[in-house]
This record gives sequence, structure tokens and C-alpha cells, in this order.
Amino acid sequence: KMKKVVVFTTGGTIAMKYDEKQGGLVPAVSGEDLAKAVPGLDKLAEIEVREFSNVASCNMSPERMFKLSQTIEVALTDPSVAGAVVTHGTDTLEETSYFLDLLHASEKPVCVVGAMRGASDTSPDGPANIYQAVQVAASCEAKDKGVLVVLNNLIHAAAQVRKTHSANCDTFGSPWWGPIGYCDQDRVVFRRAPLGRKVFNPEALTATVDLIPAETGLGTEYLDVAIARKVNGIVIEGFGRGNIPPAMIPGIDRARKAGIAVVIATRAFAGRPYETYAYPGSVGDSKAHGAIRGSEASGAQNRLKLMVILSQYPNLANEPKELEALMDS
Ligand code: ASP
Repeated sequence: KMKKVVVFTTGGTIAMKYDEKQGGLVPAVSGEDLAKAVPGLDKLAEIEVREFSNVASCNMSPERMFKLSQTIEVALTDPSVAGAVVTHGTDTLEETSYFLDLLHASEKPVCVVGAMRGASDTSPDGPANIYQAVQVAASCEAKDKGVLVVLNNLIHAAAQVRKTHSANCDTFGSPWWGPIGYCDQDRVVFRRAPLGRKVFNPEALTATVDLIPAETGLGTEYLDVAIARKVNGIVIEGFGRGNIPPAMIPGIDRARKAGIAVVIATRAFAGRPYETYAYPGSVGDSKAHGAIRGSEASGAQNRLKLMVILSQYPNLANEPKELEALMDS
């Protein structure tokens, strides 16, 4: 019997066409049209298309990601459903994929897919990418590997993938790690599996977290804005090992006094932030002022993870050791 795959469409270039009046690509293609444009899709799996939204992915918000996650997880509880595919704009695809991964306990595959060329462009890449995403979602090999990103024949783990080029079809990469598998004509080939996934299950997404990039010469300006906004957490994307301008440190003090969790991430593509150094602005210094280490994921991903954790465990904002154990994993 043919496997069933539910395709959730959210929008993105994959579902856009050129509009002469507006002079650019705009959302235009329905979920049904998307599936119809893929020759041979019906031979891979029984497809059910559900339109979640049709927006450019700059409109994605953590709240929408949470709703999408809940919708997918409910669909996957149906024993007749083998896996899910999510079509998504590529701009924030790595955020939504990571968010879905943080909440994805089921062993069934969820594949997030996008396209760099619009549906009306010459040689659109959307149809081939959707074909491959369904191929992966319907495969036994993809089971228990969390949320996967499938584009351009390659399969990436959600926690490692980044959009690396603003326009090229070969844009998704997993710096340092590489893809975990690929799609071939007859089957899906995996060579690695992501390790160390931790799954959370907050009832609602209640925590707010700001992401602040370290800038050379920066002081407490943005930290003070975040404190005034009464966020529950702040992720600072530091340089290299997580070092930040020393003039930001008094802002960490003020945030901690206000009960706001402060997490240090790195703007490097890979590697953990760490208290290697003891000079002003180092992670050692930030930690002495109440901040904690995040993980080797991007600043944006650390932000989403902190939102999820503080939503599930609000009291951890004032338990730096326990919070760090969860964040740095
Ligand atoms: N602008 C698009 C988006 O919605 C880019 C894409 O899908 O490739 O993210």
C-alpha cells in the first residue's frame, strides 16, 4: 500500500510568480497547484495538501512556527500518515526547521523544503525539491532523524543547516558538518544521523526573547531596549568564542537584576561559545555577571530554543546552571 504524506504549504518563492504590475515575485500559487506541478509525485506517495499560509517567510513568527508545529504533530498522530512535508520560504527556513525540530518527538519524518526560483521563472527548482522532500518523508530511512531540510538533492539536519547564499539554488549548507544524506533517483541515501537532539513540549509559547548581535564599539544601548521591553530572555550573538565588547557587560548586570536570562551565542558558523578567556568581555566575564553559554547553533536558533525552554520552564531564568545545561546541549 502506498504511504501517505501530508504536505503543509506556508508560502515562499516556491509558491510565487512574477507580477508585472508590482515588478517582482509575489505569492500566487496554491498548495494544490504546487503539488500538481510535480510530475510523478503521485507515484511516490498518496499526497494530501493542507494550506497553512501563503506568505513570504519574512512574515514567519515564533507564534506561527508554534502553531505550525502543533498542526503537524497532530497530523502525524494519524496512523495512516507516514510523514510530513512543509513548503517554506528559504529566508527563514532554518529557523522554522529548527523550531519544529525542538518540538518533534515523533519518529515520523518531517521535511522542510523551499525553492530559490519562482514558479514562473525559467527552470524553477521548486518541483524537483518537492519531489525529493516527499521521497524523503515517505522513506523508512528518514525515520527518527528529527526534522530534515531537503533542497537541491541534499538532506540536512535542522540544527546544522544554514542558508549560505542569497540567490544561488545551491544555498543550503551545514557548515563544518555537511549534509547527512542525499536523494537519488531510486532511493534516499543516508550516511549520518544527527546526534544529541533534545525535544521539548511547552503547552504554549509564552516567553519572549530578543536577539542582539555584538557590534564592535557597542555599549548597553540594545540591551537597555530589551530590558525596557520586559523580555524573558536575551541572546547576545558574540564574536568567535562568544566574546563581546566590554561596554555591554553593565547591560548584562541590569538584565539579570530584572530577572532576564542572558545567553551568549557566537556569530561564527560553528563551534561553541566558551569561557576560554578571562579578559573583559569574554564569556568568562559575561558568566561572572550572570550570563550563560548557549549552544553552537546560530544566534537566531539559540533565541528560538531559549523561547521554548523559558515557555516550558519559566523559573529557569533564575537558575543559570540548569538553564545552561539545557541550552548548551
Ligand atoms: N523571499 C522568499 C521567502 O519567502 C525567499 C525564498 O523563498 O526563497 O523566504
